Amino acid sequence: MTEESGECSGAKPSDEVWAKLVPSDSRYSDVEIRSEEKVICSEITASSDDKLNWCKIVRNSDLCSATIENNSPNTILVDGAEVLSESTVVIKDGSEIIPGPDREGFVGYRFSIISSPEASQRQLKILVDVDHAKCSICLNIWHDVVTVAPCLHNFCNGCFSEWLRRLQEKNSTVLCPQCRAVVQFVGKNHFLRNIAEDMLKADSSLRRSDEEVALLDSYSSVRSNLVIKSGNKHHRKRAHSALNEQSDGTNLQCPQCVSEVGGFRCNQNTVHLQCQACGGMMPSRNGFGVSQYCSGCDRAFCGAYWHALGIARSNSYPICIQDTLKPISEHSISRIPILAHEKNTHEQNITESCVRQMGRTLQDVIAEWITKLNNREIDRTRLPLNHAEMITSRTLVCCECYEKLVSFLLYWFRISMPKHFVPAEAARREDCWYGYACRTQHHSDEHARKRNHVCRPTRGSHT
Ligand SMILES: [Zn+2]
Ligand SMILES: [Zn+2]
Ligand SMILES: [Zn+2]
Ligand SMILES: [Zn+2]
Ligand SMILES: [Zn+2]
Ligand SMILES: [Zn+2]
Repeated sequence: MTEESGECSGAKPSDEVWAKLVPSDSRYSDVEIRSEEKVICSEITASSDDKLNWCKIVRNSDLCSATIENNSPNTILVDGAEVLSESTVVIKDGSEIIPGPDREGFVGYRFSIISSPEASQRQLKILVDVDHAKCSICLNIWHDVVTVAPCLHNFCNGCFSEWLRRLQEKNSTVLCPQCRAVVQFVGKNHFLRNIAEDMLKADSSLRRSDEEVALLDSYSSVRSNLVIKSGNKHHRKRAHSALNEQSDGTNLQCPQCVSEVGGFRCNQNTVHLQCQACGGMMPSRNGFGVSQYCSGCDRAFCGAYWHALGIARSNSYPICIQDTLKPISEHSISRIPILAHEKNTHEQNITESCVRQMGRTLQDVIAEWITKLNNREIDRTRLPLNHAEMITSRTLVCCECYEKLVSFLLYWFRISMPKHFVPAEAARREDCWYGYACRTQHHSDEHARKRNHVCRPTRGSHT
């Protein structure tokens, strides 16, 4: 195991300003609110310069409101209503606060929340009837939900996969199990999946047993988007005609639709996968020795498939070069990915200079760390790829997932870096308390430069 060393030292977390009190009189300055709980001492009246405690503002957990407590001996006005001494009231973005019992003689303040993406995410709450989140095949809440098109009905991946398999065995047209419309397309629906998961969290009685879920997962065959040719005569006729005769604008053909390659030829019921890199089609071949999916993101890529069949790029069909899907050990890297170190360019430059200082190349460093990953010497908790525990140097991944892997490995490379390879100026920096999870590093260039962010959060993680 590679261990992170060096606990945080005395550097203060630089909290972001999350709200402001904006005075109605521009001669006064804004009161910035940084900590989750702030006592505001500056009672300013138009007639005196005395400063006294007048209120305490505490951020609410919904992040889009706060609670104000009147700490002054006087009644104050919040949104026109009186708030007695020691009383509290909820304020929202735009609330007006008068630090005294009437408008006369007091400078009013408008409470303004500085929106963060996190807050706006939390504000969006969607109400869905449980019955509208049920699969019409198994009558349970969707599990790993897929959506079929054009009718847009939703099913569990396992339920729909079984249905699809049976229809294909009978060589019949794939119809929607709910409305009997011809299905042309099926894909995972990540948005509905999150909703279904939230529902199961909210009401555990809707949950299925682990055995049921495992069985359902074993049926699931939809990983990436599937394109299904409908088996009616009209389409069957066109399936073997020239590419330019496709009148609906969609290209549902692949080299194996036209002629047999490697002992396989598509028929009118063959389910196709659309390559995420070139947009081309390939037949979905479960059990064919070569992977058609990236193991890191489960999306389909055609590079490895056509390469294995010896089919090269032609003018007739979009086909990737082999590079879009290949084993981790065969990918190469020449520059630090934009994603590395949470996109913090200061840290990326430091890493680059460490590599140079060691007299090595990035490719060489990554190859070494892939070996460590292969030998299970690295904690994979933060590896942002699907099936993270299964990944080895022989796993086939797409270019995007490879860059994510490289970024992950560069974190560990930096964590284990002997100090003398780090530029002196960078080595002197103290760790940010929020570590890699710090949000301030993304909008404060100075903060990003002054603190080390290649470290574990030791406080108030934002993630
Ligand atoms: Zn189902
Ligand atoms: Zn339908
Ligand atoms: Zn085909
Ligand atoms: Zn991928
Ligand atoms: Zn492709
Ligand atoms: Zn920071």
